[in-house]
Amino acid sequence: MSADLYGEGVDEEDIRRERAKAREIRKSRWWQTKLSLGICYYCGKKTPAKELTMDHIVPLARGGTSSKGNLAACCKECNNLKKTMLPMEWDEYMKR
Ligand SMILES: [Zn+2]
Repeated sequence: MSADLYGEGVDEEDIRRERAKAREIRKSRWWQTKLSLGICYYCGKKTPAKELTMDHIVPLARGGTSSKGNLAACCKECNNLKKTMLPMEWDEYMKR
């Protein structure tokens, strides 16, 4: 994959590092607590912990990091939608 695919200042090395960080955070108590709340960050729907996925609010490819402030537990539905939409479309969706 070419680094040109990513936004300015974001290279594959950064993304790999942030992904590794996210994997570590998944094992943390902080994340487990978030999951146990059982609420999707985006749609607010009650979702069983095992169906919640980790999402980067600002995608890594757009310069987001694996910091606690940028990680959200969301349901598969929202995760899929977010992946298929352009960031602008997703913003519109969230306003509704
Ligand atoms: Zn959701």
